Amino acid sequence: MPRVKVYTTDFCSYCDVAKRILESKKIEYEEINIHGDSEMRDHIEELTGRRDVPQIFIDDQHIGDDDNLTELARSGELDKLLKEEDNDVAKNGNTIEERNVIIIGGGTAGYAAGVYTSRAMLEPLLLVGDALGGQLSLTLDLENYPGYFGHQAGEFVNGLKEQAERFGTETRFEYATEVDFNSHPFSVKTYDNQYSAKTIVICTGASPRTLDIPGEKEYGGRGVSYCATCDGFFFQDQRLIVVGGGDAALEEGIFLTKYASEVIIVHRRDQLRASQIMQERAFKNDKIKFIWDTVVDEIQGEEQKVTGTLLRNIKTDEKEMFPIDGVFIFVGHIPNTELFKRVIDLNDQGYILVDEKQQTNIEGVFAAGDVHDHVFRQAITAAGAGAAAGIMAEKFVAELENRAYPG
Ligand SMILES: Cc1cc2nc3c(=O)[nH]c(=O)nc-3n(C[C@H](O)[C@H](O)[C@H](O)COP(=O)(O)OP(=O)(O)OC[C@H]3O[C@@H](n4cnc5c(N)ncnc54)[C@H](O)[C@@H]3O)c2cc1C
Repeated sequence: MPRVKVYTTDFCSYCDVAKRILESKKIEYEEINIHGDSEMRDHIEELTGRRDVPQIFIDDQHIGDDDNLTELARSGELDKLLKEEDNDVAKNGNTIEERNVIIIGGGTAGYAAGVYTSRAMLEPLLLVGDALGGQLSLTLDLENYPGYFGHQAGEFVNGLKEQAERFGTETRFEYATEVDFNSHPFSVKTYDNQYSAKTIVICTGASPRTLDIPGEKEYGGRGVSYCATCDGFFFQDQRLIVVGGGDAALEEGIFLTKYASEVIIVHRRDQLRASQIMQERAFKNDKIKFIWDTVVDEIQGEEQKVTGTLLRNIKTDEKEMFPIDGVFIFVGHIPNTELFKRVIDLNDQGYILVDEKQQTNIEGVFAAGDVHDHVFRQAITAAGAGAAAGIMAEKFVAELENRAYPG
């Protein structure tokens, strides 16, 4: 059996993603947490040229980060690398598992739907994809969820899973790769299994939007990051740019001041979109500076490290080469609906269209959370929509089976 090593830091949701993928495939691994260990941090950087975690090795082969691992797992290459052709994946290849409810997505909305459908004794299967807890696993604090004051987002995420599982929701760390809603029961495929289900709840949420500028991809993980809590540690006493002007940009920017000598928030407007309380905290923080009316046109680097950004003032069109050690990008999200294009109705920005009962244009297929909500995009609204979708899924199955449904 090859030796698998995963280098991680504290508060790193992407590290959890990598670990979960390995665990779901029952692969034993050694976790090496380098948080606070500057020698190990430098060693990893030297070895891989990367300034992000997780970094994964199989024997002495550097695999890359969680995205690289996900890709390998999806394509089946991971099994080959681990010489596991005889494992359950191959054995289960052609069997179709029948379920009452499949929930696609393991964020707040998905687990809320899980609580409701499992309390209705439907034994839902929840496919978590590659991010247990969804976007909330990318942040530290959750302060605005009513009734859940002052706790950490990570604790909230664990609670979501535990509560839904207590009533009978089954979590699998699988990623839906194909769906067919043209005939009933509906069909869902993952890279490991095939399923049929009486009803589906889609809660695939949203992913960070990229800037799509030169250098962004090239220096991804080499100074360009979308997760402050994961990668901030690599930038001890360094100068960082945070791009964005909403709550996420300010919250993550404030978090980065734990490590960085200076955090410069670059925003395309002359005022922030963030909530008042976040603005006050950011303005009070001595390490945070602002550059207004400005966009990043290019990210530059040397020897595989970010060294600077080309900034452009959108009012004057003046350009400036700005030396910097890292760029953290928080410029909104795009809905994870690639899988559903030409399958269900989406709006022109790619969000799933639902009616007031969370139903899509296909009867029995529901959607909840950030995958359809482009207005509120909050944990509490995702939970509310997930609960509603769960109730409607329960009603759909009851009617299908000619059972009485309360209410
Ligand atoms: C940095 C940051 C800070 C935030 N802070 C707050 C806050 O303080 N308060 C607040 O209320 N909100 C906050 N939010 C917003 C909040 O996290 C979202 O509104 C909420 O997570 C939406 O939940 P969701 O379940 O709809 O989707 P998500 O949380 O996006 O979850 C989506 C799930 O779908 C899964 N998935 C995707 N594709 C597939 C697939 N093909 N197959 C299987 N699974 C799939 C993912 O792995 C994930 O589990 C923050 C967001 C960010 C990014």
